[in-house]
Amino acid sequence: MSKKLLLKNAHVEGIRFLKAYRENGGYSSLEKAMKMSPDEILEQVKASGLRGRGGAGFPTGLKWSFLAKPEGVPRYLVVNADESEPGTFKDRYLMEYLPHLLIEGMIISSFCLGAKRSYIYIRGEYSWIPDILEKAIEEAKEAGFLGTNILGSGYDLEFYIQRGGGAYICGEETALLESLEGKRGNPRLKPPFPAVKGLWESPTVVNNVETIAAVVPIIDITGAQYAKIGVGKSTGTKLISACGNINKPGVYEIDMTISVEEFIYSEDYCGGIPNGKRLKACIPGGSSVPIVPANLLLKTISGETRYMNYESLSDGGFVSGTMMGSGGFIVLDEDQCIVEHTMTLARFYNHESCGQCTPCREGTGWMYKILKKIDSGYGEMKDIDLLWDIQSKIEGNTICPLGDAAAWPVAAAIRHFRDEFEWHVREPQLSQTQNYGLAHYADPIVPKPELV
Ligand code: SF4
Repeated sequence: MSKKLLLKNAHVEGIRFLKAYRENGGYSSLEKAMKMSPDEILEQVKASGLRGRGGAGFPTGLKWSFLAKPEGVPRYLVVNADESEPGTFKDRYLMEYLPHLLIEGMIISSFCLGAKRSYIYIRGEYSWIPDILEKAIEEAKEAGFLGTNILGSGYDLEFYIQRGGGAYICGEETALLESLEGKRGNPRLKPPFPAVKGLWESPTVVNNVETIAAVVPIIDITGAQYAKIGVGKSTGTKLISACGNINKPGVYEIDMTISVEEFIYSEDYCGGIPNGKRLKACIPGGSSVPIVPANLLLKTISGETRYMNYESLSDGGFVSGTMMGSGGFIVLDEDQCIVEHTMTLARFYNHESCGQCTPCREGTGWMYKILKKIDSGYGEMKDIDLLWDIQSKIEGNTICPLGDAAAWPVAAAIRHFRDEFEWHVREPQLSQTQNYGLAHYADPIVPKPELV
């Protein structure tokens, strides 16, 4: 069983409220942090090796150190709670059951960054969670942890919660800032980065909910101790929201040393695949990361075991690897149709494109239409190559990462399951009533050179 830092008290009765949170050590990290200088806190976060838990995995301490500090200009911390990546629901769990953990992490982080006003931007669909957070903020204020002169330190801080309107693109940090300013959530061209010109043109740090919550145990046990948990550059613990064809969907905290196989089949985690079905593929980091077939997931191409961490999951690059992403772990069993699955994702990204750049606005629509054509039994062999061509022209050619997020699932599906796409074209009648299943395992998966 993995060591638990974030969820260790998640099942304590009443932990959502201040009384139980305090009785279980809550706000002791804040008390410790308020005796430290902002620079000392930053050093602890840097020493921890914490990487952003929203998807990109950028080192948090480094991100914080980029924050510009011009005289007389306010700085902001914005917590990105716009958790919209399909398959990802771990931030919802944190906010719903451990709101004070987020509040405590936000106060420590805001103090470190010199922010006097901090924001939580939460996806509109999480309609019941702002009330939980408001209650926690109120309790923290009454206890002197938030508001004016926090714990007698002379430091003042206010929190604000902003509900999003339900756009996936507002999870992109600059689109989020636009939305927070009351504008349409269109991503901004970078540079300037938010650390220099963010909210209302002021220096701003945007971090994911889990990232900010992780600051609490880092201050508690020290950055050096936190860095000892995990492996390599995958330090500390990571929340994984597991769903799809597994016996025990839910949110799990792992220490990133367990293998993918253990995570899927152990009773401590996903508990295996229902009805004795075989594993076909998995998307380990939310819908935008490349899908990986079972034979490359349980082992890498070189025969090594694949582990649940940033380095191991990306081993092999985009040829045979994938990404840790947001930790939205989606399992597909042998009954799942890759073409239909890819089409569903393409429809999602097409719907969520903000329309600013042509490759994304037009390309996501084309990909969806071609996938729908193949899935409906009207595909031609040339459509598969056309699909490949379109995705390759989206990747890297857009303002924000939504373009890549739309292209990668299509690229990986064709790279690993081209034979299944071809079968849909060859057998249009059969493919409407049957699944291709695991047939492709008859042949070793060798990426076609022109597709790599
Ligand atoms: Fe908008 Fe897509 Fe361009 Fe991002 S990549 S700015 S979502 S059109």
